[in-house]
Amino acid sequence: MEEYDLIIVGSGPAGLTAAVYAARYKIKTLVIGEQIGGLAAEANEICNFPSYKKISGVELTQKMREQVEDFGIEIKNSLVDSIEKFDSLFLVKTTSEEFKAKKIILTTGTEKRKLGLENENKLLGRGISYCATCDAAFFRNKVVGVVGGSNAALTAALLLSKFANEVYIIYRKDRFFRAEPMWIEEIEKNKKIKLMFNTNITELIGKDKLEAVKLDNGKKLKLDGLFVEIGSVSNSKLSNKLGIELEEGYIKVDKKQKTRIKGVFAAGDITNSPLRQIIVACSQGAVAANSAYEEIRTEAN
Ligand SMILES: Cc1cc2nc3c(=O)[nH]c(=O)nc-3n(C[C@H](O)[C@H](O)[C@H](O)COP(=O)(O)OP(=O)(O)OC[C@H]3O[C@@H](n4cnc5c(N)ncnc54)[C@H](O)[C@@H]3O)c2cc1C
Repeated sequence: MEEYDLIIVGSGPAGLTAAVYAARYKIKTLVIGEQIGGLAAEANEICNFPSYKKISGVELTQKMREQVEDFGIEIKNSLVDSIEKFDSLFLVKTTSEEFKAKKIILTTGTEKRKLGLENENKLLGRGISYCATCDAAFFRNKVVGVVGGSNAALTAALLLSKFANEVYIIYRKDRFFRAEPMWIEEIEKNKKIKLMFNTNITELIGKDKLEAVKLDNGKKLKLDGLFVEIGSVSNSKLSNKLGIELEEGYIKVDKKQKTRIKGVFAAGDITNSPLRQIIVACSQGAVAANSAYEEIRTEAN
């Protein structure tokens, strides 16, 4: 079984940045991630990452990936099933392989929250989507809805308006209080986008594909597509077996990105960070790699 100094679980901005730093420290490192680029790859337009005025999530994370691979670090495109403490090492199992590591950095981020309505899973990919960047182009000249009121919901609606004839934003509050003013202005200027505040969806209608949604005001809205952007929940499953302390579902870390378990660090959206953004994930990834390296160096002496 191959042994590494460091295994980074997750290949979003936090994991890829941790890998760049680990490469510079010349520690034997493996990155295992289910989706290369992570959630950041789903961002249509990123305007708040220093050095790029505007860049797509796919392009930015592709550049991160290339940098990691240029440093000679291997990225395995797999799902980690479990991590267990094994003497002084950690045993990391994917669906088909096993590895040992001295240190672990968890960067498993978050996944999209679902509406929790009947039919939601059945209609996934048949009108229901959680990723406008991935699926917007399928809705050319159609009528679509976006549920939510965050930056992610507003940017999804703006992207969809480039393809669809009409875009309804369905939001349970009476105004966009969480989104950035820049995106709100763009939304208000866009003639294809219609706002439905104080509204919830109660039913998804359609047998083989989405046809309409029922609203809590009793009305039916005909839709070809519905994009769900109502926030995220943490991917903290791997932490439970290791006994890592969580805070409201997110991994509790100190300023060196250490968890309660010696040898396990965490970075990015999976942590109890006050701001879940790419720049923060990158910065925490760098700190985590540095802390892992410091421990490895101290233990070797
Ligand atoms: C639509 C959208 C637009 C956004 N726009 C912006 C923006 O403009 N600017 C900005 O700064 N931020 C933006 N964000 C937020 C940004 O994407 C996140 O803050 C950032 O991706 C967090 O990085 P991360 O590495 O912590 O987690 P993620 O990017 O979520 O990466 C987590 C990684 O862990 C992997 N993973 C999870 N579980 C396992 C497992 N068991 N085994 C192996 N791998 C696993 C995932 O596949 C993924 O590779 C946006 C998010 C969305 C959804």
